[in-house]
Amino acid sequence: MEVIETRAQLKQWRGKVHGSVGFVPTMGALHEGHLSLVRRSLAENPWTVVSIFVNPRQFGPQEDYHRYPRTLETDLRLLQNLGVSASFVPSVEEMYSSEDEAYISLTRLSRLWCGSYRLGHFDGVALVLTKLFHLVMPARAYFGEKDFQQVRIVEKMVEELFFPLEVVRVPTVREPDGLAMSSRNMYLSPSGRAQAIALYKVLQYIQTLVPKTGLVSDLLREGEAYLRERFPEVRLEYLAIVDEYSLQPIEHLRQSSHPRALIAAYVEGVRLIDNLPLIYPEESE
Ligand code: AMP
Repeated sequence: MEVIETRAQLKQWRGKVHGSVGFVPTMGALHEGHLSLVRRSLAENPWTVVSIFVNPRQFGPQEDYHRYPRTLETDLRLLQNLGVSASFVPSVEEMYSSEDEAYISLTRLSRLWCGSYRLGHFDGVALVLTKLFHLVMPARAYFGEKDFQQVRIVEKMVEELFFPLEVVRVPTVREPDGLAMSSRNMYLSPSGRAQAIALYKVLQYIQTLVPKTGLVSDLLREGEAYLRERFPEVRLEYLAIVDEYSLQPIEHLRQSSHPRALIAAYVEGVRLIDNLPLIYPEESE
């Protein structure tokens, strides 16, 4: 595996390869969730590039940019063992200059849900991905459904800005108890780790109610009560049921062919997210 640190080296490497390049952008601290994206890319492309870059532009001033876990050596070993062709590990200076002016924003999708709490977060994501897509020139780019709003934003950006690549969605990889894998899970103490299961549990609980009611206000009220009673230490940021294409809230599950529940919550001050498609049986009322 080539470990590439500069745009110039990447350009040189990219000029030499023929056939489709699969691209997996990450912020490192790799776990099985990331690796499932990498495996999918390796299966679908003769070349796979994985970037590891903790992107300062997608963190707010009060967020965890400085303490975000950085485990580069282990990450590179994992990627090498999987058979990745090249990793791109640029410095901040390689990606941004103090003279930069460009700003990319999806005015609607980026301001909903996580975007309304993490102001500018998705603009930072869109900017770094635009830069990375131009450098890597992938045929396919792989994103996890764990960050569901992110994958929708990337799909919309790629479509609207005519990026010549396909966005591939990869299902969420979970721990055996259902907790969605995340680099931020490393911050949790054993008792926080036990509380963190709340996010998946409440999503599952909502799914169990669906055969009884498709009315979203009922589902959300019951879900919030479940969280308060079973997981009083978890601080809910939002729980929503949306159409998974537009990410707009719906009032009844039958309003959407693909309803999905989204959640963001704090456990021991660590912000966690998860989501689950809701299966609404035709005969339900
Ligand atoms: P990150 O390093 O957090 O920016 O994530 C890099 C990519 O890995 C994103 O496309 C994430 O959606 C994806 N990812 C992170 N955790 C998981 C997971 N548990 N399952 C599937 N994909 C994931």
